[in-house]
Amino acid sequence: MKQLLASLFLLTCLPLSGIVTAQKVSGFPSLQQLQSPQNPRLGFIIHGGAGVISKGSLTPEKEKEFRDKLSEAVLAGYKALQAGKSSLDAVEIAIKILEDSPLFNAGKGAVFTNDGKNELDASIMFGKDQTAGAVAGLRRVKNPITLARAVMEKSEHVMMIGEGAEKFAAEQKIELVDPKYFWTQHRWDALQKILKEEAEKKEKVKRETEKSASEEPANRFGTVGAVALDKDGNLAAGTSTGGMTNKKYGRVGDAPIIGAGTYANNETCAVSATGWGEFFIRIGVARDVCAQMEYRALPVQNAADLVIKQKLQKMGGDGGVIAMDRFGNMGISFNSEGMYRAYINIKGEPVVEIY
Ligand code: ASP
Repeated sequence: MKQLLASLFLLTCLPLSGIVTAQKVSGFPSLQQLQSPQNPRLGFIIHGGAGVISKGSLTPEKEKEFRDKLSEAVLAGYKALQAGKSSLDAVEIAIKILEDSPLFNAGKGAVFTNDGKNELDASIMFGKDQTAGAVAGLRRVKNPITLARAVMEKSEHVMMIGEGAEKFAAEQKIELVDPKYFWTQHRWDALQKILKEEAEKKEKVKRETEKSASEEPANRFGTVGAVALDKDGNLAAGTSTGGMTNKKYGRVGDAPIIGAGTYANNETCAVSATGWGEFFIRIGVARDVCAQMEYRALPVQNAADLVIKQKLQKMGGDGGVIAMDRFGNMGISFNSEGMYRAYINIKGEPVVEIY
């Protein structure tokens, strides 16, 4: 009976385009999870990267550091929403906190490129009007997410890269730092480890580079992202990263690609992704999650699972997404061992999860 009611309820909430296929969909969320359009909730989820995070691989102290920082960021974003700020504000506030922490592969803790530099990428999107801003290949911008938002709101473009983007940052009075600001010992050591492995396997250089970059847990943990639903029913999503350790100079991943690493549309959902970027770009992961809702009327969790656990898995990629629909229902999915994540539950309490 509950299932039937949930189905009927969902059908009434679905965009018209989805109704035809709705009856084929299985695995509806429970009634409790569904929010009514008359009573929208504030919603907030963040992630801090996906990868091989097995239980026991983190010391209890390190795990606490991650949990504390994720909790701080998710609460800061949620409080902003409670204070009446927009979903964009909440996304930017939380991502900035994570960018300023050396724990995550974004901002301060960004990984190194093959030639020992840090090149940062970020993007943000507003579900109300589908405006978006993205930046890539930054070396001097302290908070790439803030510059992505400035590109969205203060320029006529969607994406800006490298020196031009930094020139725009200066014009917008966005904080620039010396590139040395991004130097951290643990990320430097991770690069040195890969370079050493590469030198040892010279004959298969290309192959081994790709392989080691995907398998080494320290390599790309910690891309950060957030999705939010505000009091006006507007969704937003944002993602920020240093990319993948040992990436070739100039390589751009999925995080700043609208439709791959980030997407938001009030009609369907907001998505932020993390994982092996090349696969996420080829699938168009973030947009695909929303498209599964739009075209096939899948609930957000099922849409996320389909893209991550079936399509991405089949292609050989790894990683995950956080997603939220227009009623505040959550979709969290990953095919890696773990994904740092935090969200506000139905009672308004923060929950942090890793494995
Ligand atoms: N998706 C990011 C990239 O490929 C890395 C990550 O999320 O871990 O640049």
